[in-house]
Amino acid sequence: MVSLIPSPDTVMQMLKRTGAFREGHFVYPTGKHSPNYFQMPLAFRYYDTARVLAVALSRKFRVERDISSQLPKIAIISPSSGGIPVAFGVRDALSAEQIYWAEREANGKRMFRQYVNQGEVNPCIIVDDIIRSGHAIEETAALVKELGAKVIGCGAIVRFTSAPSEFEGAPIKSLVEFDAHMYDDGEACGDCKKDSPIEHVRF
Ligand SMILES: [Zn+2]
Repeated sequence: MVSLIPSPDTVMQMLKRTGAFREGHFVYPTGKHSPNYFQMPLAFRYYDTARVLAVALSRKFRVERDISSQLPKIAIISPSSGGIPVAFGVRDALSAEQIYWAEREANGKRMFRQYVNQGEVNPCIIVDDIIRSGHAIEETAALVKELGAKVIGCGAIVRFTSAPSEFEGAPIKSLVEFDAHMYDDGEACGDCKKDSPIEHVRF
């Protein structure tokens, strides 16, 4: 029998197969070193994989009475471009009425791509492809509140265990909780000690 929500192991296999998760010796633009690298859009380039992941995440929201009872009058919101395919997939699975996405302006401030006004946003679920620090979710929730709307759920395909596990008392939903190893510099990095070749990557 096909399980309704794939296990974290199955999801990790999908991420590996698509190149969205890699193991090696990576250095980020911040100078931090890590043996793991996620590039989630590589998983979302395959439509079937994208659909399986988004449907699975949607099921974690649908079981919440506070969410299912408000359908379809809810909005699915992505904090950035990386979350847009997740947002569309979750919207589709839940038949939610609205979809919005935010992006960072040149001044660094996060804004909704749609120029919406007070009262136009339904109670919302914020979804992203990956939650590394939780800042993107927090900034997006602040935008939602400025517009007088309520956040009724948050989630992502992968959540780093270093990020918050709840948002305002509600657990953050994810398909995988990943214990990411990050080292501030080469001094602290085990792979540097082994002289393994470095690959420079962007977020
Ligand atoms: Zn290193």
